[in-house]
Amino acid sequence: MGSRELRLGLLGRTLLFPDERPFCLACGRRPLATRIASFTDVEFADRETSGVNTLLNFVHPVLGWANRERMVSFKIDAPVCWIHFLRGRVVDLAMIALFVLALVLLLVLSIQGVIPRRPGELGAALKAGLVAFLILGAWFAYRFRSKRAILPCQGRRESRDRVVLLYEGEAPGTK
Ligand SMILES: [Zn+2]
Repeated sequence: MGSRELRLGLLGRTLLFPDERPFCLACGRRPLATRIASFTDVEFADRETSGVNTLLNFVHPVLGWANRERMVSFKIDAPVCWIHFLRGRVVDLAMIALFVLALVLLLVLSIQGVIPRRPGELGAALKAGLVAFLILGAWFAYRFRSKRAILPCQGRRESRDRVVLLYEGEAPGTK
């Protein structure tokens, strides 16, 4: 029976695995690469800064706030298998491909002279329309890029060099 918690050492952003054998933090398979996963841990920030912040808040509340703020979120280099490396990126890649395709189309049309080069009313409007379409496309791709969490778990810090990952079900690598 596995556990829902996974405790790992943390050195900067690098995770330290037992037996130095990393595994995909989403499913436990052999890892292909790492992806940066960020977590927020308010409790840790409160705990870590409570002592110093009494003094900092006395000087100025902004100092205390800034000191706590830099502790609230933390990042880890999470090893992931190829499936979880690609997941959530396919849509992003498709968006970029579509954008490049539209750009090439615009270039080809310009070179072939389909779009009039001389500033005629229709030609100018067409060109402006295409450029606006491209800019809008880029904005959409940026605005609606996938923001889904990479790992199916929450991250907590026990201390500066110890991280606990909490899974909904069984944590990978704990069987
Ligand atoms: Zn995986």
